[in-house]
Amino acid sequence: MPIYNFSAGPGMLPAPVLREVQAQFLSYKESGVSIVEMSHRSKRFTELARHLEERLRRLMAIPDEYAVLWLQGGATLQFSMVPMNLKTAGRFAYLDSGVWSQKAIADARRVGTVDVIGSARGVGYSELPTWPETIQGADYLHLTLNNTIEGTRYTALPETDVPLVADVSSNILAEHIDVRRFGLLYAGAQKNIGPAGLTVVIVRRDLISERDVPSYLSYENHVDTLLNTPSTFSMYVAERVLAWIEAEGGVDEMERRNRLKSERLYRALDTSSLFRPLVTDTTSRSLTNIPFTTGNEETDEAFRLYAEARDLIELGGHRSVGGLRASLYNAMPLEGVERLVDTMHEFEQEGHHVSYKNV
Ligand SMILES: *Cc1c(COP(=O)(O)O)cnc(C)c1O
Repeated sequence: MPIYNFSAGPGMLPAPVLREVQAQFLSYKESGVSIVEMSHRSKRFTELARHLEERLRRLMAIPDEYAVLWLQGGATLQFSMVPMNLKTAGRFAYLDSGVWSQKAIADARRVGTVDVIGSARGVGYSELPTWPETIQGADYLHLTLNNTIEGTRYTALPETDVPLVADVSSNILAEHIDVRRFGLLYAGAQKNIGPAGLTVVIVRRDLISERDVPSYLSYENHVDTLLNTPSTFSMYVAERVLAWIEAEGGVDEMERRNRLKSERLYRALDTSSLFRPLVTDTTSRSLTNIPFTTGNEETDEAFRLYAEARDLIELGGHRSVGGLRASLYNAMPLEGVERLVDTMHEFEQEGHHVSYKNV
C-alpha cells in the first residue's frame, strides 16, 4: 500500500518524477556526471533552465512583458525583496489574511510604510478580509492568494490600478491564475513545483528598475540571466515536475483534479458528526490546504496517530492553529483523499474519540 503524504510543505511530488530523478542521478542524460556536479553555466544546464522557463510560461500563459526569476531564500526572502524593489512612494497596501500575510507585513514595515487595508484577524482568519472600494497612493497591494495555514483562498480580486502582488506559494500550478491581473507573483517551490531551495518570481518588466541594494536583492540583476549559482538540483526536479504537469494536461487538468479532491474532503467534513472544516464559507475555501478539527485537541491527536498508522501521514495542523490539516497538492491522487475520508469514517464508527487508548 502506498503512503499518502498530506504535508503542507515540502509536499508530495509525482512518483514518476522521483523515479526518473533517481534513475538519472548518477549520470544525467548519460553525461557520466550527476546533475549536482554540473556547472550552472554548462550547455546542458543552460538548456535545462531554458526548458524550465518555457514550460512555466506555457503552463501559466506568462506574457513576454513578464520576467521569470529563479531565486533562493524561499517565499520569505520575497517578503523583503518585494518592497525593496517596488518602492517608489514608500507606501505599501497589504491585506492581512493570516500567518504568511503577517510575516510579509512585518518585513515590509522595515522598508516603508504599510497600510493594512483589510484584515481577517477579527474572525480568526476563517474568512478572507474585505477591502475598500478604492485603493490609491500605494506602490502595490499585497495579498496571500492561498492561505496555506488557515485554508482560505481569494476567488475575487480588488479592482485597482495599484499593481497587485501575490504570494502564490501553495496554489501556483494547482489552479488557474491570471498572470495579467498581477504586477508580481512569487512562490517557494516546495509545495507544488519541486524541492525546497528554489523560489520563482514572475514580475512585470516595467516594475523592475535599478536599486541601491546588495546585488542579490535587486530583481534587475536576475532578469534573463543567472547572477550566481542557482539551486541547480531543485531547478532540475522542477523542470521534470512541470513536464509531468504538461503531460497530464496542464493547469486546467490539475485544477479539475484538485476541485474533485477538495470537494470530496469538504463534503465528508460538512456531513461528519465528528470532524468539521475550519473554513465554512464555501466561496473562499482553499483547493489545496484543508484545515479541520474535531474540536477536541486530544481527539485530533488521536486521529492523527490513527491515520499515520494507516499510512496517511503529516495530517497535523500548523503549530499556530493546531488541529488537523490535509494538503492536497497536484501529486496527491484522488485515492489518497478517498483513503482519508474512509479512515475518518472508520475512526468515527469505532468510537475512538470517546475511548481512544492506542493505535
Ligand atoms: C510555505 C509558505 C511560505 C514560506 O515559504 P518559504 O519558502 O519557507 O519561505 C510563505 N507563504 C506561503 C503562502 C506559504 O505557503
